[in-house]
Amino acid sequence: MTSTNIAGSFKLMKSLNRTLILNIIRKDGPISRAEIAKIAKLTPPTVTNIVHELLEAQLVKESEMGVSTGGRKPILLTINAESFYVIGLDVGIHKIRAVAADLNAVIKNEQVVTIQKGIGKEELIQLLIKQVNEMMQNTNLSKDKIIGIGVGMHGVVDSKEGVALYAPNFGLKNIPIKDRLEEVFQLPVKVENDAKVLALGEKWFGYGINIQNMVCLNVGIGIGAGIIIDDKLFNGKNGIAGEIGHTAIDLNGPKCSCGNYGCLQALSSGDAIREHMLKEINLGRKTKVVELVQGELEMIEGKIIHEAAILGDELAREVLTKSGRYLGVGIANLINVMNPDLVVISGGVSKAGHYILDPIKEVVADRVLNEEAKKTNVLQSKLGDHGTAIGAITLVLADLFIPEFLNE
Ligand SMILES: [Zn+2]
Repeated sequence: MTSTNIAGSFKLMKSLNRTLILNIIRKDGPISRAEIAKIAKLTPPTVTNIVHELLEAQLVKESEMGVSTGGRKPILLTINAESFYVIGLDVGIHKIRAVAADLNAVIKNEQVVTIQKGIGKEELIQLLIKQVNEMMQNTNLSKDKIIGIGVGMHGVVDSKEGVALYAPNFGLKNIPIKDRLEEVFQLPVKVENDAKVLALGEKWFGYGINIQNMVCLNVGIGIGAGIIIDDKLFNGKNGIAGEIGHTAIDLNGPKCSCGNYGCLQALSSGDAIREHMLKEINLGRKTKVVELVQGELEMIEGKIIHEAAILGDELAREVLTKSGRYLGVGIANLINVMNPDLVVISGGVSKAGHYILDPIKEVVADRVLNEEAKKTNVLQSKLGDHGTAIGAITLVLADLFIPEFLNE
């Protein structure tokens, strides 16, 4: 099968009953045809026909025998996870993480490359093309084994057109990622904002499985959130839903990159933590952080501050607590507005673990309105550094298994 054919055959798969059955096998497999018919409320012959097509397409496979209820033991079906691959790109501010994963989002290969400062639009596109090519070569993948390419991109993204509308940290506008990658690879390409993609990854493969309403915060250089409502990604009318980094926490707070004062991002992002530490050092406070960077203050970053906190450094702990408390205010506001089942914290700052999570939980318990909601689960991401890349893969998987999930 040629790549264009495979893309075409997956399009054909998008009939309602086929995706319904495929998704039941993904979620509940190994499962028998009879059970699928019961869950899908379809007739057994319809299920048999569609399963036959899915077997032919190698998307599902027959596995071990089920328990007999008197007659012949039924054959069970599972997703043929390793039959196809998805390539995911996490395009951050300083780095691109490229991964190749199977249909269960199990990563088979990955690499991380640095993005040079002042990169241009065309250079960025060429860099993305190079990463996809290298993933295909390193994983020994022929193109007909790949069902698509997912891209999690920082900044404002038009996910329908697959265009990065504004990438503030590159100073680039209107990057036609989908068009250009589809032209080169002749594969379906999905592009979405990185925080939203992260929420997708957590929903499908992290702590969000079986959770209907959740928020996933990406707290790194910037702060963004992906919102899942009733099992679907929430975009809002203009696609800015989840820009929690630019909600005001302190009207008299420091100036934010967006031009306003006292945004959550200006108070508790990775940059804000570093700035706070530098300010205290300049005021003469003693801290192990200075030793850890051997006096080179420009080397200070979140990781070092966390390291110092573990070593018992009082100032490092204080700085992280302060950031955690501001984050707690932002999260308490979110909980009071949308009352989610779960909040997941991801990104560089989340790596500070309990130094950040404890103050968040304290403020949430203080500020959220009722007793039940005060106990809203706030967890550190299960997917860690791979969250956005796995989310990028989920963009493609969601299109295959549950197109309506993406709420397009
Ligand atoms: Zn702002």
